[in-house]
Amino acid sequence: MKRINRVCVYCGSSGRVAEMYRSAATRTGTLLARAGIEVIYGGGRIGLMGLVADAALSAGGRVTGIIPGFLHDRELGHTGISELIVAESMHERKQRMFELSDAFVILPGGLGTLDEAFECITWRQLGLHDRPIVLVDIGGYWQPLMRLIDQVVESGFAPRAAHDFFKLVLTPEEMLAVLSAAPEPTMPHTADRV
Ligand code: AMP
Repeated sequence: MKRINRVCVYCGSSGRVAEMYRSAATRTGTLLARAGIEVIYGGGRIGLMGLVADAALSAGGRVTGIIPGFLHDRELGHTGISELIVAESMHERKQRMFELSDAFVILPGGLGTLDEAFECITWRQLGLHDRPIVLVDIGGYWQPLMRLIDQVVESGFAPRAAHDFFKLVLTPEEMLAVLSAAPEPTMPHTADRV
């Protein structure tokens, strides 16, 4: 397989959450860095986002953050990371994250995380990319979403294949195993069709 060099991590900007979510974020950053994988993320210093970045840096990894100028203050752009790219807009941020990443990992998060998760899942449904997407189901966090997707499929609004667009795993360790075993993507990373 083509080596996965960069993984985009989508996760919550809130840190006022249960310890199991915080430790999963830290573990994710540590594991990716130890595997020699660069973390691509939203560039903030707060919440699970900051924990992922700090853990990856502590483990000697490379971290690139992409933050729109207007969020730089609100989400406290992380100035200690390897590279902080300031984007013009949310759309540019998402496009840059999409173009830079070889795979997408979704940890628990809020509405922004849901948007980011669904964007990369629906782009896969549309055939705009074929890169791995892994949802990490800490403490069953994504189970209500899985039930909603079941209902969407059972009601005929999405094909049965909808379940194949992403993998659900229970731990950050399993996430890394899934990425290592993923088939090599064949499509270019450019976002020129999105
Ligand atoms: P949240 O999951 O709401 O804590 O947000 C996680 C990250 O998603 C933060 O960096 C937000 O700036 C970002 N975000 C919020 N809304 C959106 C959106 N509509 N599209 C993309 N990212 C978003």
